Amino acid sequence: MGTVVDAQNMKYGRKVIVVFVLGGPGSGKGTQCANIVQHFGYTHLSAGDLLRAEIKSGSENGTMIQSMIKEGKIVPSEITVKLLQQAMQESGNDKFLIDGFPRNEENRETFESVTGIAPEFVLFFDCPEEEMEKRLLSRKQGREDDNMETIRKRFKVYMESSLPVVEYYSSKGNVRKIDAVKQVDAVFEDVKAIFNSTIEKVAPYEDFPTSLNTKMP
Ligand code: UDP
Ligand code: MG
Repeated sequence: MGTVVDAQNMKYGRKVIVVFVLGGPGSGKGTQCANIVQHFGYTHLSAGDLLRAEIKSGSENGTMIQSMIKEGKIVPSEITVKLLQQAMQESGNDKFLIDGFPRNEENRETFESVTGIAPEFVLFFDCPEEEMEKRLLSRKQGREDDNMETIRKRFKVYMESSLPVVEYYSSKGNVRKIDAVKQVDAVFEDVKAIFNSTIEKVAPYEDFPTSLNTKMP
């Protein structure tokens, strides 16, 4: 598959914007991404959801992916990156929230080298483990990995492999940290403030069609 963008994230003369949405399991990434989609017109790509869809589609990798998710392990990068790249190409959009990815350094390196895209910033949901555990055990979405045994493994992988990715971007000044323990609406106020300042930077209001200007705060 061809690379869609060059080093400046350019695609057909337009800038592709990718925001990585990171945070522990149950920190509220998916919930807040749905809000961001509504308000700011991004396409939400959850790496976990893409992997679960891949299992359902009966793909040859399905069984392997399923057992890795059950164990809280990180699926090989080339599989996840391919799914993300396909979804980006199919969307027709040029603004993406990539939720729950990259989960380790290898994920990050593979994404950057395969797509040539560097994230605009990382939206990081900071939440204590006991709050995340409570949310995971009460969300009842029928997920095979929302049980105490797998949750423990996911937390361990998160601490050991995923937090270093946040630290990497943090050292580049590219992380916007959110206090994710608050109520959904209060968290979204903080998220909105971050995206509003980014929109100003990327596309000033006067560049939007008049019909959209009225909706801008
Ligand atoms: N997963 C993965 N690579 C990814 C994203 C998810 O291997 O880039 C797997 C991993 O096993 C993880 C599971 O999918 O534990 C569930 O991820 P999801 O992001 O859906 O969970 P959340 O953190 O949102 O609860
Ligand atoms: Mg999720």
